[in-house]
Amino acid sequence: MNLGRLQFLGTGTSQGVPMIGCSCAVCRSEDPRDQRLRCSVWIQTPESSLLIDTSPDFRTQALRAGIQSVDAVLYTHAHADHVLGLDDLRCFCERENRSMPIYSHPETLKQIQGIFPYAFFPKVRVSTYVQVDPIAVESTFELGGWRITPLKVEHGSIQTYGFLFDRKEGKRFVYLSDCKQLSEEVIERVRGVDYLIIDALRQKPHPTHLSIEESIEVAKKIAAKQTYFTHLTHHHTHCERERMIPEGLSIAIAYDRLEIEL
Ligand SMILES: [Zn+2]
Ligand SMILES: [Zn+2]
Ligand SMILES: [Zn+2]
Repeated sequence: MNLGRLQFLGTGTSQGVPMIGCSCAVCRSEDPRDQRLRCSVWIQTPESSLLIDTSPDFRTQALRAGIQSVDAVLYTHAHADHVLGLDDLRCFCERENRSMPIYSHPETLKQIQGIFPYAFFPKVRVSTYVQVDPIAVESTFELGGWRITPLKVEHGSIQTYGFLFDRKEGKRFVYLSDCKQLSEEVIERVRGVDYLIIDALRQKPHPTHLSIEESIEVAKKIAAKQTYFTHLTHHHTHCERERMIPEGLSIAIAYDRLEIEL
C-alpha cells in the first residue's frame, strides 16, 4: 500500500560534500550522487508534510524538492548542521499565519531557543518572522497520521533523538542520523522495521559517529527490510561506498533527492 513518500533532502555530513576549499577526487566528482547537502528528510503522506531537521541548506532543499507546505518539524539535536535552516520556515508561518510546531527533547528545544530566541517570543507575532510552537516529547506521540517514538541514541558526549515512525500496519521507518552507539533497548525496539536510515560517516572510526563497518554491524542486528546509509563525508565516492557493502545485505547508500515509497 502506498502511504506516501520520504525524500532525502540531504545526505552529507556537517560540512556537506563537496567541502569548501577541498579539491579531492570526491569533492570534484561528476557523479551527482556525490553532491551532498546537509542531512534532513521530508515525509509526505496524504495527511501531513513533516520534516526531520532543517539544515543550513534548507532553503535550497525546499526549492529543489518543491516543498509547498510543512505541518511540523522534528529535531534530532541542536548541532548547526541540523537546525540552522529554521529561519526559512518563516514562509510557511507567514503564508498560513500560524506558528510552526517543532518537536524534540526539552533540552534540544532549549538549545534551539538559544540560537533563535526571536522565534520563541510569544504573542508578538510579526507577520514575516518565523515563530515556533515548541513541543517537548519524551515518549510516543501521534502526529500527521503517524505514531512517532523518540529514541535516545548516543552521539559522542551528547544524546540525539532518533525517530521511529509507525502506522497501524507496523514499523515503517526509523531515522537515526548522528549516532555512535545504540542501546540494546533501542535495537530491540526497531528490530524488523521496514526502512532503517542510519549514520555511516566514513570508513575510519570517529568518536561521535558510526563508521561504515559499525553501521553494517548495527544494520545486521536491526534486520530492516532495507537499510540506507546517510550523513556521509567526502572520504569515499558513492560508488566506492556501494562496494564496501558485503554482498547479500539489503543496505543501500542514500543520496540527495532519493525517494522511498512509504
Ligand atoms: Zn550532523
Ligand atoms: Zn574533498
Ligand atoms: Zn551532530
